[in-house]
Amino acid sequence: MTDRSLPRALRQAMPQAREVAVEVAKQYGVCIRPVPLKRLDVDTGRWEVVDVPCGATLDAKCPSCAKRNWQLRMAQCREGWHLDQEPAITPDDPTEEQRWLVEFRADLQARRDQAEALGEDTADWDAAIEGVDAEINEAGMRGNVLGRTVPKRTRSTRRRQDAPNLPKRKMANTTLGRTFQSSDGKVYRPSLFVTLTLPSYGKVRNGVPVDPENYDYTRAARDALHFSKLVDRFVQNLRRVAGYDVQYFATVEPQKRLAPHLHMAIRGTLPRAEVKQIAAATYHQVWWPPADTVVFEGARLPVWEDGTGYLNPSTGEVLPTWDQALDQLDTDENAKPLHVIRFGDQIDVKGVLAGTPDTDQCIRYLSKYLTKSLGEALDSQAQRDHIARVVEALRYEPCSPTCPNWLRYGIQPKGAKAGMTPGQCRSKAHKPDHLGYAGRRVLVSRKWSNKTLAEHKQDRRTWVLEALGQPNELTDPHRYIWKPVPAGDANVSPLAVRLLRSVAERQRWRIHLPQLQAQADGQDPPVMERTAA
Ligand SMILES: [Zn+2]
Ligand SMILES: [Zn+2]
Repeated sequence: MTDRSLPRALRQAMPQAREVAVEVAKQYGVCIRPVPLKRLDVDTGRWEVVDVPCGATLDAKCPSCAKRNWQLRMAQCREGWHLDQEPAITPDDPTEEQRWLVEFRADLQARRDQAEALGEDTADWDAAIEGVDAEINEAGMRGNVLGRTVPKRTRSTRRRQDAPNLPKRKMANTTLGRTFQSSDGKVYRPSLFVTLTLPSYGKVRNGVPVDPENYDYTRAARDALHFSKLVDRFVQNLRRVAGYDVQYFATVEPQKRLAPHLHMAIRGTLPRAEVKQIAAATYHQVWWPPADTVVFEGARLPVWEDGTGYLNPSTGEVLPTWDQALDQLDTDENAKPLHVIRFGDQIDVKGVLAGTPDTDQCIRYLSKYLTKSLGEALDSQAQRDHIARVVEALRYEPCSPTCPNWLRYGIQPKGAKAGMTPGQCRSKAHKPDHLGYAGRRVLVSRKWSNKTLAEHKQDRRTWVLEALGQPNELTDPHRYIWKPVPAGDANVSPLAVRLLRSVAERQRWRIHLPQLQAQADGQDPPVMERTAA
């Protein structure tokens, strides 16, 4: 509260209470954008409002959560890189995690609908829901919680991508790399650190095209959109050539020219020349309908008809559906893929030995960009112009089968519905923060760390509960029922008050920290992201 009896000049000199609270919260590593949720304790029958840190639920967003996430990632990366024993992977039993995710998904949906009803922007909620949906799928459930499941399309075998011409070794049932013993009996455990970049789209200086007119923005946009597929192919080829179940921890980050590139810690080693050969031979074909000829634009756009779909505005003909367009592609002998993506020739392969300063340096390097967004750190006008052109190139590029941009090329997007407008896709691939790459920033293979799935789940729950201020409890997952908090709920205190409360909580923890650390001895971060590899 501002004391009105203070002289005005003095009052003005006082920083805003809220700003101070935010600064203090940052110093203590407390989430500055907590998400309030209502929680029913079924044991006591009591409802209370608790703050969930933004990084525990959505993509890590606030600086505190981003930093926390970064620390956990470094620990995770270090833990798995030079394992000397096969990681224990137990069969999936993710029902509890699934239930938790589904409940959380329901909460998010309720909050989103509420925001919509109030006429607020729902973009953040939609993004969060998208993220949780992806996690739900990865937790082993098909489709999404609204029950829309679509049978997987069987692709014509003619179009199956051949394995590139690479040596192929017999597959050994191990994830560990070879070791080497020196004459004095010391065992060396070599690994790899690989950097992969995309090809050139035109000459750049300081990250900015020298000749923007002739810089291939379309190719750059398509490469960014399909980059994660190329990475998947690279891992497949790597495993085939290496002859063992290669594990990796990788991060995707932007180069200065804004193209995504990849740093990958790989467990075990291969000859450098071979890794380069694999990268050079790896490619991915995008078998989507053609999107190079504009069919509808400006005021002349396809018209929606209930029960029918999108129609040609001039002739009234129904436009081909996504499935029809794919069928057409399959039967056309002369069809070409919409896009073929390959790595550029700037491939860097470095050997790293376990337990050396090199390892630490690589791990720091891997996590360096995790707290930044792809579109950040633009200091010159030329760079801002460059980013604007990348965004413009992405504007009408179809980002997925469901992208409204397909209407521009005369095709109904998969799952077409009323109100779709080309150039107005809300998927994050089109946004300046993502620049075409909407995939995960951290890719960790399933057998990277030496933990069972159950342990990871427990870690994750422990982390969330800790963040909720219950560090000591081993909680029954069914103890709480979560509900969204209506906007303007009187039970939610002002942000400054909530932040300072969390700081006080954190101070209490710090006193008990040595004790907690002993209990948690060796416990590591929850896995918040995984790849399907
Ligand atoms: Zn946060
Ligand atoms: Zn799109």
